[in-house]
Amino acid sequence: MFNELIAPGQDPILALTVAFRADQRPDKVDLGIGVYRNSAGETPVMQAVRRAAMDLAETQPTKSYVGLAGDERFNQAMTDLLLAGTAGHARAAAVQTPGASGALRMLAELIATARPSATVWISRPSYVNHKPVMESAGLAVREYPYFNVDTKQVDEQAMLAQIAQLGPDDVLLLHGCCHNPTGGDISAASWQRITELALERGFLPFVDIAYQGFGDGLQEDAAGLRRLADAVPEMVIATSCSKNFGLYRERTGAAIVIGESAAAAAKAKAHIQRLARGTYTMPPDHGAAIVARILHDDELRQLWQDELTAMNERINQLRAELVQQFRAVAQSDRFDYFGQHRGMFSVTGLSAEQLARLKTDHGIYVVDGGRVNVAGLSEAAIPTVVKGFLAVGA
Ligand code: PMP
Repeated sequence: MFNELIAPGQDPILALTVAFRADQRPDKVDLGIGVYRNSAGETPVMQAVRRAAMDLAETQPTKSYVGLAGDERFNQAMTDLLLAGTAGHARAAAVQTPGASGALRMLAELIATARPSATVWISRPSYVNHKPVMESAGLAVREYPYFNVDTKQVDEQAMLAQIAQLGPDDVLLLHGCCHNPTGGDISAASWQRITELALERGFLPFVDIAYQGFGDGLQEDAAGLRRLADAVPEMVIATSCSKNFGLYRERTGAAIVIGESAAAAAKAKAHIQRLARGTYTMPPDHGAAIVARILHDDELRQLWQDELTAMNERINQLRAELVQQFRAVAQSDRFDYFGQHRGMFSVTGLSAEQLARLKTDHGIYVVDGGRVNVAGLSEAAIPTVVKGFLAVGA
């Protein structure tokens, strides 16, 4: 049966990680895979997470199955974290999923169930999995203009012009904050305009928020999403605890549906549960149980928020440091975009040839397309990065 299969291409980011590990140079720099690292180069377990996990190990009464929707205390906490105080909050229903990846797939399947003819519009460029996941659910995918690689800014005019053409059969997939891969985020004015257009044109907003707390803060990073949730009759949200709780491998996320009524949202939730049964059935418990404990306990919640703020500040400090050192060495402000972007990533606009030279000549590993993971940098590596970039003509 399997002899005839053609081997699929290797995942480019994982292939880069393998090449990085094999590189013997002591000053090599990995700007590839999207994980946060501290100044020691580690992706640590957060203290709040460790404490909640220990507590769980000692007190969890059973490992028997959870339901198809996962941990309802987790679902409530995630809904509150994103939507408390918005008009959509009372009409929202949530299902715990295996990471935001699981949420993206379940929501895509839900949309395909409700509206098989729907087209999902994704940004150009977007998170590498958006297109394949939407297509796997049988949905058509098209792109809207997003990033101008020359200015390294969001081309808001072109983006809004395309969005103004969408209609009731369309789904608009937006990054809530910390756009992956570009680092360029939608301005408050454009979120407002998108909200007005959603009301006028009747398309469904679909917000993927995988980095809440990695941009300007927990509340600030959800501001655009909350603006939508205050106004539109329906929207869907995929959210993740991979980054802001550092729970990557525990596969912790949620799919949230805001319906025209609470009853409509409950019906959508029941469909997601049915869809989950046809795939993984139940999400893994451990990560969600940890998050539920943290968010329902004042002391742990404060500890988590303080740790998250420290990670956020470190990322923004690394961004500021890059700008400053590029300015000092290159005598130019053309790298200021590192300071304007938010979250883990920035798209640099480097060509394939420049990326190859960075790797071969300077031991600097950047994924195809020129996305760098600023949150993976160490302070000590910044001079190497600045030197390497300028040497390849960035
Ligand atoms: N959406 C975006 C925009 C992402 O960058 C990622 C990857 N971190 C995901 C979803 C998937 O996240 P998770 O690891 O929680 O499945």
